[in-house]
Amino acid sequence: MPIILPYDDDGIRRAAEELRAGGVVAFATETVYGLGADTFNAEAVRRIYELKGRPMENPLIAHVIDAVSAKSLVTEWDHRCDKLASRFWPGPLTMILPRRETVPIESVAGLGTIAVRSPMHPLARSLLYCFGGPISAPSANRSGHVSPTTAQHVAEDFADAEHLLVLDGGLADFGIESTVVDLTGATATVLRPGTVTIDQLRRALGRAHAIVGSEQGISPGTAPVHYAPRRPASVVTTADLAEELAAPGPVAAVLCFSPSSVPSPHQSIVMPQDPEGYARRLYQALREADQVAVERIVIEEPPEREGIWIAIHDRIARAARSTGER
Ligand code: AMP
Ligand code: MG
Repeated sequence: MPIILPYDDDGIRRAAEELRAGGVVAFATETVYGLGADTFNAEAVRRIYELKGRPMENPLIAHVIDAVSAKSLVTEWDHRCDKLASRFWPGPLTMILPRRETVPIESVAGLGTIAVRSPMHPLARSLLYCFGGPISAPSANRSGHVSPTTAQHVAEDFADAEHLLVLDGGLADFGIESTVVDLTGATATVLRPGTVTIDQLRRALGRAHAIVGSEQGISPGTAPVHYAPRRPASVVTTADLAEELAAPGPVAAVLCFSPSSVPSPHQSIVMPQDPEGYARRLYQALREADQVAVERIVIEEPPEREGIWIAIHDRIARAARSTGER
């Protein structure tokens, strides 16, 4: 069983020592929990891939304490980076930039670029301070599964991992993965939507700098099936929900906005109406839906499609593309 450590000085010290010794530790961030290793220790980084069962071509995000540390990993850092870092760091924004030769290829899945992000969660920041260098970390789930938003989620996914330290920072505040923006070209491109929205990015960069959202799939490793619960899931509009649940069929756990729209024997999991609350709750709700005695998951489609809802639609569409148990 993994060892869940409370967020205190002793826990941070133990985790930092583990990282220095070439180990892997799981830790809270404000987006989801990360499974981290020393960015400059290729062997340690390889262990992340082994533990997760992650394809080697899916690159990791290097977590840094600040922009100075980020610059030690990249060869270009322009005005756009300054603007985005001063507006959104520390926080849930990841920038893709050309990497330095000194970064081991394992940490970037063989790419010439690197993803850098400075997290805002005090636990992640304490760990970065105490460790004293960048920590490469993908989400701390088995590859393809729903990202973890609590230490218990991590422990469940890695139940058979002996000695894995999990630093418990409570429920992740934002609850979905960071916004990823590629700044290697003249046009900044959003590769993965998140809680930092494209409108916020546009405002921060100003009119002089082009920025586009893009279809998912461009970012290496963002396979269409991702963030998937174990049970088959489908997304249904509010208008179609009654018909879907009235029809004879397998019993469902329903992520809905109102319990009254879910007739028995189906089970309702009521979701917050605001996008911040919905995002924070989504992965926890999907994991709960996997644990109750039902055969499938139905997700009531949120009607709105602006701002953070864009990222939520992206994640629920991915969950629904799952093939069920695997
Ligand atoms: P995870 O933290 O598990 O969400 O995984 C990190 C994600 O960040 C990857 O799946 C990629 O989509 C993205 N990413 C990391 N490094 C790069 C990179 N060099 N270029 C483009 N996308 C990246
Ligand atoms: Mg992930």
